[in-house]
Amino acid sequence: MDTSVLVINCGSSSIKYALVLEDPAQPRLAGLAECLGSSDARLKGTASNGEPFEQSLPGADHGLALEAILDRLEGRLPLAVGHRIVHGGEHFTRAALIDDDVIAAIEQTTALAPLHNPANLAGVAATRRLFPDLPQVAVFDTAFHQTLPPRAYRYALSEALYRDHAIRRYGFHGTSHAYVSQRADTLSGLEGGGWLTAHLGNGCSTCAVWKGQSRDTSMGLTPLEGVAMGTRSGDVDPGLHAHLARQLGWSLERIDEVLNRHSGLLGLSGLTNDMRELEAAAAQGHQGAAIAVEVFCYRIAKSLAALSCALPRLDGLIFTGGIGENSAEVRERVVALLPHFGLQLNRTANSDTVRGREGRIDAGGRQLWVIPTDEEGQIASETRQRLKQETTA
Ligand code: ADP
Repeated sequence: MDTSVLVINCGSSSIKYALVLEDPAQPRLAGLAECLGSSDARLKGTASNGEPFEQSLPGADHGLALEAILDRLEGRLPLAVGHRIVHGGEHFTRAALIDDDVIAAIEQTTALAPLHNPANLAGVAATRRLFPDLPQVAVFDTAFHQTLPPRAYRYALSEALYRDHAIRRYGFHGTSHAYVSQRADTLSGLEGGGWLTAHLGNGCSTCAVWKGQSRDTSMGLTPLEGVAMGTRSGDVDPGLHAHLARQLGWSLERIDEVLNRHSGLLGLSGLTNDMRELEAAAAQGHQGAAIAVEVFCYRIAKSLAALSCALPRLDGLIFTGGIGENSAEVRERVVALLPHFGLQLNRTANSDTVRGREGRIDAGGRQLWVIPTDEEGQIASETRQRLKQETTA
């Protein structure tokens, strides 16, 4: 029997897929359908012989794109489908085998993730139509953080807002924080260490992990809270909204748009949200780029320092995500801001890290790791685990 898991990450106009084999280190059939619903819709990916392909799918919706993806699986029928679902609210503390009740429960959290959850559910519906007999599992970005204690997840707001309207901190990027902290446990031999993790991609978040459980994290009710990101502001004064509305007459929609899409590295630099370009521009004296990189690193260090309160013991710090894995400069700057944590960087190891490889970059003291994240591998492994629990129940 085929023991691969098809991992699906469905956005409003895109579907990322990967066929993950039981040994997650094996090469994957993977790709991306994008611009769905438009005349530019297309599917790009890699075949098992390593050859890239691109196929035009004019006007294709999620259903048609999934059919095209199925054709690219080279005749393999997966054991199950694992879906990335952004928000599981308080209902989902772990992965769930999808049935009508689970879908209804995900629909109920839609108010908390109005852009993401409907798109994720569209993917689930299309996949169920296409593979009616395959088990499908929902893996939530929020579930890993359901171990946060109340002091970390409650806002200092009235009890009624929490009880009646589910206003609390949830946290995101759970699959990534879970994966890299588990890897650090294994690689360090500590099994259940105290880790601070920094997932730095287009979206960025930090997390405090103790004995394999999330104890606090930087994102909150939505993925806008916390550190500065590619285009998201991260934390601002909560009074900012009222100030902008009163002083500039901005609508809530406009404020939301500005904080989500025109802020962060892009807003600060006035140039780009791409860290590679910012580092190059800063090196050539672009002041906006320089302040963007400086604020970005300072806010990460500040967030990690704050999260250290959640850990009884700190064993080390882990960098992941496109920036965390590839930017030696960001890592060096963040570590330099945390000398009181007993962090010492091995500068040679830091600049010599090989793309896509795990590496230790400390010079003694507490551990510093670069660990490439593998959200697809983690979703596949949680899907398998859930199925095993189901069959042994
Ligand atoms: P996403 O969150 O969309 O999955 P990624 O994790 O791929 O994004 O991260 C994208 C970010 O990684 C971009 O800001 C990009 O500039 C940055 N990045 C990728 N490679 C490098 C590099 N070599 N140096 C610095 N930043 C890099």
